[in-house]
Amino acid sequence: MNGENFLQTFHYPVNTFPGKMEVSINRKQLVPGRDFIISPNSPGAKGKATLAQKDSTHYSNVHKHITVSIQSKLTWSVAHEVADFTTIQVDKKAIYKKPVIVELNIENKFIQDFKASNVCAMVKGTVRPDSLILFTAHYDHLGGMGRSTYFPGANDNASGVSLLLSLAKYYAANPQRYTIGFICFAGEEAGLLGSKYFTENPLVPLSSIRFLTNVDLVGTGDEGITVVNATEFPKEFMLLNTINDDGNFLVKINARGKAANSDHYWFTEQGVPSFFIYTLGGIKAYHDIFDKAETLPFNEYQDLFKLIVKFNERLIN
Ligand SMILES: [Zn+2]
Repeated sequence: MNGENFLQTFHYPVNTFPGKMEVSINRKQLVPGRDFIISPNSPGAKGKATLAQKDSTHYSNVHKHITVSIQSKLTWSVAHEVADFTTIQVDKKAIYKKPVIVELNIENKFIQDFKASNVCAMVKGTVRPDSLILFTAHYDHLGGMGRSTYFPGANDNASGVSLLLSLAKYYAANPQRYTIGFICFAGEEAGLLGSKYFTENPLVPLSSIRFLTNVDLVGTGDEGITVVNATEFPKEFMLLNTINDDGNFLVKINARGKAANSDHYWFTEQGVPSFFIYTLGGIKAYHDIFDKAETLPFNEYQDLFKLIVKFNERLIN
């Protein structure tokens, strides 16, 4: 995108768990990812502790800075600082009695200057190369939790990256009047950091972007899609609906307002017209070890691809 390099590199602080990840409660060994997750801002911990009940779902040893919290769904994330308590979130299906004794062997590693890169590219426009259509999708996920527990992130967001790559392949073979840009953002899960960095250090003038489409969680679609920023850009949203009705692509397009829930956000804040599209229906795995490619249907992938291409065709011409 800057004519030199596909990578735009930046750094951020992040707490990681590259080593041991062992938890037992009431002497029963728990399976990481399935039975428990560690709160992302936890320091490492080693040893045994007796827990006291704090409320219906929280059990702590205040002296040893350990908390066990009982959850009905385990949802992991990323933290950029380390708190002073090690918190273990346990799936309620994994334990039968109140947790009394917890034994931990957990290693964390706080990295002050974690290096990450946005991946940026473009296909030059044939008539108005200074006007831009932009497609974005984050390619980071949550990383590993311990040495052997892996969060695949198939829907979040390998699905969006694959759609972006399909679009890149299509536009490389079919250059348009406008320049078509593609960005895979890093650091999304740590707080939309890659897109924030890009908008603060843009490789193209933000004012030259005619429209941005961000895709995240697009591996299903049997119940349609939701469009964030629909109410911010009603003309474009109407156009999207007209094209969808004409082409019979998706069963439903839900309108949503502004939301800081993916990488379109910083661009919207800078006045760049944008939509964030995610699909609805199918498997509900999210930020857990079950977000796997094998169970992701991709049933509306072609239709969504066609809808996006036709929508942008109309914006350009
Ligand atoms: Zn995501």
